[in-house]
Amino acid sequence: MHNVPKLLPSLIQAVAGTIEINADTVTKLDQAIGDGDHVINLQRGLDALLLQTTELSQLEWSAAWQKIGMTLLTTMGGASGSLFGTLFISMSKAASNQTLNLQSFADIYSQGVEAVKSRGKADVGEKTMLDVLVPVAESLCQDAINSSPLAKVYENVISVAESGVESTRDMLATKGRASFLGERTIGHIDAGAKTSQLMICAIVDVLDDSTAPT
Ligand code: ADP
Ligand code: MG
Repeated sequence: MHNVPKLLPSLIQAVAGTIEINADTVTKLDQAIGDGDHVINLQRGLDALLLQTTELSQLEWSAAWQKIGMTLLTTMGGASGSLFGTLFISMSKAASNQTLNLQSFADIYSQGVEAVKSRGKADVGEKTMLDVLVPVAESLCQDAINSSPLAKVYENVISVAESGVESTRDMLATKGRASFLGERTIGHIDAGAKTSQLMICAIVDVLDDSTAPT
């Protein structure tokens, strides 16, 4: 992987694009068991990132993730703002002085996800974004151990992210606003899990299409 994140502009555009296309669907999810603002929060963060793409693409990964995290933290708001902010800031810390490859990225991303768990005092099974973020981390780590070809890595990530989203449907929410609704959350997919999956799949699509070394 290159240390200079040349792909960041296309990655951010792809992420913003998928959230735009799925805005209505996700808003309905957050209206059912939350307060309906999740897409607006995300779009505030993504709009801010879209203004920074040139600058971000000139930084090294660690510095770029730090800037992305700070931007999300200061612009998004909502529970998801501090959680996504934490993800990137922690990835930045884990990435300093590391050369990026599948093995190091799996470790960096896993450290980011661990920080999200601590920040939100939550784990898998509580009907949150972690039901997507954690299985993706596990999948990356397993493929790093196996030295799987990138095509396989991408395929596995997409598959566990999709089943992670689906797994939230039958869960009882025990964290975040949805937890106030208790049993009534059962039968609904979590909005943050859905947007995490959409964003991860958009990123994978760009990486998969790119002929540049990742
Ligand atoms: P808010 O809940 O403050 O309105 P958002 O609507 O932007 O914030 O984000 C809600 C999403 O954040 C939920 O769908 C869930 O995935 C995620 N979330 C909320 N609380 C937590 C937590 N403690 N740990 C992990 N994820 C959480
Ligand atoms: Mg909300």
